[in-house]
Amino acid sequence: MPPARFWRGWGKGQASPTRATRTHARLCFTINLLILQVMAKIRQDIIDHILDIAKIEEVVADFPSVKLKKQAGGVRYIGVCPFHDDKGYGNFSVYPKENVYKCFKCEAAGDPVKFLMEHEKLSFPDAIRWLGKKYNVEVDDVPLNYTPPPPRPTPPPLPTLWLPRNMVRQRMTGLEHDNLVRYIREQVQWGNEQRARIPHVLFEYCVGHSTIRQQYGDHEFTVFWQIDAEGHPRTAHYMKYKENGHRLKENEGKYVTDWMHSLLTRGGYRNYYDSDRQEVRQCLFGEHLLKRYPKATVKLVESEKTAILMAIAYGNNATQVWLACCGASNLTRERLKPLIDQKRQVILYPDRDGVKLWKQKAEAIYYDRLTIDTKPVKEWWRECDGPKADIADVVVRMINQAPPKPKTIGEVMEQVPVIRPLIEKLNLTIDNNE
Ligand SMILES: [Zn+2]
Repeated sequence: MPPARFWRGWGKGQASPTRATRTHARLCFTINLLILQVMAKIRQDIIDHILDIAKIEEVVADFPSVKLKKQAGGVRYIGVCPFHDDKGYGNFSVYPKENVYKCFKCEAAGDPVKFLMEHEKLSFPDAIRWLGKKYNVEVDDVPLNYTPPPPRPTPPPLPTLWLPRNMVRQRMTGLEHDNLVRYIREQVQWGNEQRARIPHVLFEYCVGHSTIRQQYGDHEFTVFWQIDAEGHPRTAHYMKYKENGHRLKENEGKYVTDWMHSLLTRGGYRNYYDSDRQEVRQCLFGEHLLKRYPKATVKLVESEKTAILMAIAYGNNATQVWLACCGASNLTRERLKPLIDQKRQVILYPDRDGVKLWKQKAEAIYYDRLTIDTKPVKEWWRECDGPKADIADVVVRMINQAPPKPKTIGEVMEQVPVIRPLIEKLNLTIDNNE
């Protein structure tokens, strides 16, 4: 009997099916259910195998809207959280080692299967099928009564890497060979007061110099330490400078920049830095000076060199201290947290080509004591400073252009010899201190 007709037979106003027909129907139903269950059955070891090979970073990367990016040498990935209305990077993290994702904003967390179940609204068997397809594992089906294991707990964040302080001291020698330091000492026409500040400023920021020996020669780097507000050295930025005080750019040389934590990793100094036990968290350049100048307004610039030149030009003191964020990408609320926690006034000084970006970033930081000052790179700027000039380029050009002011009449007479006979003729007395 064809099924369509058989079921129609149970319709309203029709004769009831006979006992035999009812039994037949029940039997059919049970057999169908059994067939379904046999089909649905899959060996537990296949599920285990899929759970074993599914990598969270690969699964999440299949969804481009998350914009997953590798960070800190692959220890962590970050992206835009797909489970809440996420406005940018930083909240959503993926940890390959633990095979989990976690959002620090909406608390979404779990393993690859959980991600698919939540994101694609899949049942557990369908999530397993999805993964089977991705990893070329044949999945017939999975048992209907299988309960997924609870997701592995998210690991607690690793402690911040703190390097020993003597590492900083060891690199504060040899500055006489350093291109940037020599430029600062020899090529800027500082006034007397500014010149007197140079050794103090270099010492205060712990500016260092380091030679890295490689097979094909030595590499000379200026070393900028990142020491946090509590005085713990976190890492150091290595940069190459030319004799004219400008950075050696990537297209001018292959090896132009490095980081202390990378050097330690490559050198195998696991007693100093073990990425399984500590996490590198960068901080602002000059952050350790906050303690020394507890009430000062923080003047924040992009590069370490700019902070140093501005500190020499204008000084760090009770009213102002110069810090650097070391790249516009670090201009985030997270990086500025120590300043916000201390309720500091903060003034941003963007480079000339970064004004628009810094204004956007400042808005995103959303801190009411944060302002932005573009006067130096707009009003003081001249064509000769170049389109990418930063505040220090402008200030140094102004210093170098200002004619040296004669200090005493004696110095004036040296510069303008004709004055001496004139003074003698008029029978004037000279006080050399005037
Ligand atoms: Zn979220």
